[in-house]
Amino acid sequence: MVLNILEKAKRKENLCVEEIEALLTISDPDELQALYDAAYYIKEQYVGKIAYFRGLIECSNLCMKDCYYCGIRKSNKNVERFLMDEEEIFKEALWAYEAEYGSCVIQSGERQDTAYIEMIERVVKRIHEASNRELGITLSLGEQTEEVYRRWRKAGASRYLLRIETTNPELYARIHPEDHSMETRKECLAALRRTGYQVGTGVMMGLPGQTMRDLANDILFLKEIDIDMVGMGPYIPHSDTPMGEEVPPYTDEQKKDALTLGLKMIAVTRIVLKDINIAAATALQALEYTGREQGLKCGANVIMPNVTETEFRPKYQLYDNKPCTDENSSMCRGCLSGRISGIGEEVGFNERGDSPHFHKR
Ligand code: SAM
Ligand code: SF4
Repeated sequence: MVLNILEKAKRKENLCVEEIEALLTISDPDELQALYDAAYYIKEQYVGKIAYFRGLIECSNLCMKDCYYCGIRKSNKNVERFLMDEEEIFKEALWAYEAEYGSCVIQSGERQDTAYIEMIERVVKRIHEASNRELGITLSLGEQTEEVYRRWRKAGASRYLLRIETTNPELYARIHPEDHSMETRKECLAALRRTGYQVGTGVMMGLPGQTMRDLANDILFLKEIDIDMVGMGPYIPHSDTPMGEEVPPYTDEQKKDALTLGLKMIAVTRIVLKDINIAAATALQALEYTGREQGLKCGANVIMPNVTETEFRPKYQLYDNKPCTDENSSMCRGCLSGRISGIGEEVGFNERGDSPHFHKR
């Protein structure tokens, strides 16, 4: 049955929710390999064997939200809060540009105050101009008004990542406080589309109580809203969060299962959505050292090496044992490039690597 579904996907026929769920439920090693091979075949056809680097700048852990899973939620008193100044963000983005990364991602906790909005606007403009408009600028700064999205777009940002986290309303309500709303998130995604961004979203996999049917519906949601990029990753507990207190740290067996589920989601998303950009999340590497390269072999085509100054990294702990927190940016560039050639792929240095799907629209 699995092989029939994969053949159907290769013939470009649409898959229904039951078929997607069947692919996500595979456990037989041969069938799993057939799934990964089919996803890689589709990746080669639609986006090629090039891994694009996005230099990730985690510019502040100040957050007005309190998501139950996240280590930098506002109620976590064990976090030493930081906010990079404009100069520091600019310097790190320019480092990414000079290291020939085609783009950077500016990410932080959510803030909606005027001072922050204006600072981001200024720094995006500076990066855009200093890189001769060459460096792609992605923002991942949470929910904002359409007006703010428009201002940042005008300043030079061209992509935005805002995960829906899960499309199951009950699960969404269980992992967020009452004042967080899935409807607002969907409206934000629609506003990002209207303001001309390449829009990225995604989910966390392995949330307590999440089913394979939920994840299959998540993939269909990505297709339904016609997304350009996907950034999704395994949920990993953080001990200082309400969810982390209930979920003990993963055993080696659980890490292995979480990695497999992450890889299956990447593969099935590639099979269903085909010509979009898919990131191999850092969280995959927290589960196994080569997790991100395995993500590339299963259909991902984007990696986000951390270019944040080493001193800030330990303060941006979304989950326990986040990798690379004691490395500097050059080490990340060096070790990743070597590992990518090791799997027979090229790094798209100096290329923005826009979503082919976005340009076809
Ligand atoms: N504040 C912005 C937002 O929420 O969109 C951007 C930064 S937030 C830290 C980026 C992503 O981190 C979230 O979308 C969430 O999926 C992920 N994240 C947070 N806690 C996590 C955890 N414990 N395990 C895995 N991913 C996590
Ligand atoms: Fe804040 Fe984003 Fe973490 Fe939620 S996931 S607490 S919005 S940083």
